Parts: sequence; structure tokens; C-alpha cells
Amino acid sequence: MIVTRFAPSPTGSLHLGHAHSALTGWRAARRAGGRFLLRLEDIDQMRCRPEFAAAIPEDLAWLGLDWDGPVRVQSEHFADYRAALGRLQAAGLLYPCFCTRAVIKAEMARSVAAPHGPEGPLYPGTCRALEPAERAQRIAAGESFALRLDVAAALARCAPLFWEDELAGRIAADPASLGDVVLARKETPASYHLAVTLDDALQAVTLVTRGVDLFAATHIHRLLQALLDLPVPRWRHHRLLTDATGRRFAKRDRAQTLRALRDAGHAPAEVRRLAGFPD
Ligand code: GLU
Repeated sequence: MIVTRFAPSPTGSLHLGHAHSALTGWRAARRAGGRFLLRLEDIDQMRCRPEFAAAIPEDLAWLGLDWDGPVRVQSEHFADYRAALGRLQAAGLLYPCFCTRAVIKAEMARSVAAPHGPEGPLYPGTCRALEPAERAQRIAAGESFALRLDVAAALARCAPLFWEDELAGRIAADPASLGDVVLARKETPASYHLAVTLDDALQAVTLVTRGVDLFAATHIHRLLQALLDLPVPRWRHHRLLTDATGRRFAKRDRAQTLRALRDAGHAPAEVRRLAGFPD
């Protein structure tokens, strides 16, 4: 059975781009007689707000969507993420990174050709080479650190990995293109990459539908699935909806939020049409 999901972060109001994404997952599930799930990705508690979280189900219901089972709220599941981190740590695949953003920037400015990935400059690996004694001493001194995935060490344990995108076809996973990503921080004990991968598995999602802006992230998610023995779904990275001027919708565009369109008198069917689903 096909299981899809919509997994917004409550850091703002849903806009037409979100509606497109939600409708993509909902339609795929409902047409196939499958399940459609809703998940709130609120691990970044500094940026998420309860009023946005409360508005998301309301806006989706108004738009005509329904979902199966309770809404999964990520901030209620830090124990799951901690357990997965523990497994990766026990396997020797994580290292503490003490670099502040300023230190990383300075390091990159020093190297002539700082490697770039699809999401920007890559972490230069400064803390990967630290001696265990120095790590222990800095942690004991109370220095703040993030946990990064040692991608080279992780890849050394896996056979070549592939993933299937319904639009782009079979893709060879290239997690190294994103560098040693952060999987946890002091103030946020799970990263997007870790939480999304684990939750899709825990919720038995079989088809991940999301915007093509997250295409590159899938290279890392595929690696995490291999490391944590998780089932591998299929993906459909859909196009990003743009406004009349060709710009992507963003949370700052107040006029294009579902709430604003509704308050302006648009009917749900009209908003579904604006979101690219005319029928
Ligand atoms: N929470 C992510 C966002 O709002 C989407 C996660 C996903 O669909 O994989 O951008």
C-alpha cells in the first residue's frame, strides 16, 4: 500500500507552495487507495511557533485535505532521534565539531578552492582530525559542539547506494556531495536530516513527496537509511510552484498564504487551482 506524507515546519503560515506539496502527496495516496500522513517538523524550537503549528491542520482541512491517524509532532519524539544518534555514535560514525560559523567561514576563506556542494560550501572537516584526548578535554571543559556524520567512514561501510525518484529516475547516491552534515546540536538534539529519515521509516512512508529543493538532501537520507537499517521508500521531488513573476513562494509573502487567500474570499477549489490542482 502506498503511504505518503506532508511534513511542514511550523515556522510560518502555509502558502501556495505548501498547498502544492500537500496536494501532491494527498492526491497520490488517495488515487491509489493508500494512506496520507501529516507530520509537524518542529525540532528547531527556536524558529517554530505554536500558533503556526495550530494553523497547519486547520488550513489543510479548509483546503479539503484529510489525513490518516494522528499528526506526528517531532518535538515529542526526541528519544527516537537520540537512540538513532546513539547507534551511529557507537559505530564510530559521528564526531564532535566545535567550530562556530565564524571559524568555518575563516577556514574556508583560507583555502583557495573550498569545495562546494549543492547546498553551498562544504564543511572543511576541521574537527574530524582532532585527537581523542583533545576532544575529551574540550567536551569536559564545557565547550559547545555539534555532532557531524563522518561521511567517508560511513560510505566505507556501504555498498554503492541508489534511490528511485518517480520523476528523475534511478539516482546514484552521492552523500559526499553534502560533506559531513550536522546530525545534532546542543540546542537541537536532532537535525532535519536525521529526524526526517527516521520518521519516514517509523511512519512506514513508501513514497516521499516533497519539493525539488530537497532533492540533494536525499543523498544523505539514503545513506542514513543504509546505516540505520531502515526501509527505503521511493521519492517524488516535485517542481516548485512560482508566482506570476516566476519567484518561488516564500513564508514572507503574506498575500499568498492560505489564510490570506481564504480571508480574501477565495473558495478552497479556487485555491487548489492556484496551487496547480485544477480538478
Ligand atoms: N520540513 C521540511 C520543510 O518544511 C520538509 C521535509 C520533507 O518534506 O522532507 O521544508
